Amino acid sequence: MLWDDRLSVAARDQMKTPSRSLDRESGTQPGTQATPIAHVLALQRTLGNRATSGLLLSRRPPEALLQRVLRGREDIVSGRNNHQLTEAEGRQLLEEFARNDPRSVGALVNAPFGMAPNQNTRGDWMLDDQEWGLIREDATGEMHLIEGGKHGVNFDAYRNESTPLAHSHPFQYGKRSITMGSIDFATLLTQQDQAAKQARTMVLPSISDFVYPAERQQQLHTVYTPYVVDANTGDVRNPTPQDAGAPRLIWRLSQIVLDQAHHRVEGRLTALSGGHAVWSRRVRADSNNRHGTDYMIIGA
Ligand SMILES: [Zn+2]
Repeated sequence: MLWDDRLSVAARDQMKTPSRSLDRESGTQPGTQATPIAHVLALQRTLGNRATSGLLLSRRPPEALLQRVLRGREDIVSGRNNHQLTEAEGRQLLEEFARNDPRSVGALVNAPFGMAPNQNTRGDWMLDDQEWGLIREDATGEMHLIEGGKHGVNFDAYRNESTPLAHSHPFQYGKRSITMGSIDFATLLTQQDQAAKQARTMVLPSISDFVYPAERQQQLHTVYTPYVVDANTGDVRNPTPQDAGAPRLIWRLSQIVLDQAHHRVEGRLTALSGGHAVWSRRVRADSNNRHGTDYMIIGA
């Protein structure tokens, strides 16, 4: 099984690369990728560089094999047995991880050891203890997840090889609960009391979530949250144990435009649940206030 090592979270942090780069069930050995390089070096030693180049030209592997660079890298989670995750699968994974739902973890390589059962005092999964990113590898179109931290995902580490599409926000087993329990969208965006502000901080995308894609000439990004849109009231609320496999609140950020001269970012913020748009407004924010979640509604 994947989790036989029973690494503690601390041990995993120390041994991150070696422990997480193995695809033990698929038969891929850690030495496989190094072998062709060792072979080339051996050829160069015996034949010289020019002769080696001629040999390599005739034995060059298919283009796709040369270009796949992200699979197996630290913090990159990919499909198992060389299955290339589709965008729909990657998005489904973010919704599952945001609700701490491990159903698909067995289909992944480089999957999250530290969040596995029995790795912590709860004896439970901790997929929602941190953020996750979804990227498309530019050369191949393959989708990968990036393991983020409690406060963000470092898309920049892979910016030369990939395009950021989406990320998830953590729930941290209740630490990021809305103190009000539930709140309607209008109050969430506009009310100026402490309870609404606390809910805003928890539930809304950060202004950075708009600014970051805009700085990369992207108009679209998606944020997956652990919260639930209540089917009866239409309000946003904390998840309960009964919501284990239920759809979560997903924010679609679109039509993003950054006005650097005026330090403003604008865009459309749409709340989705179960594939349906349940609320949508055009919003504007102070692009310098990246960690903030205060938006002005500027259109329907
Ligand atoms: Zn975010």
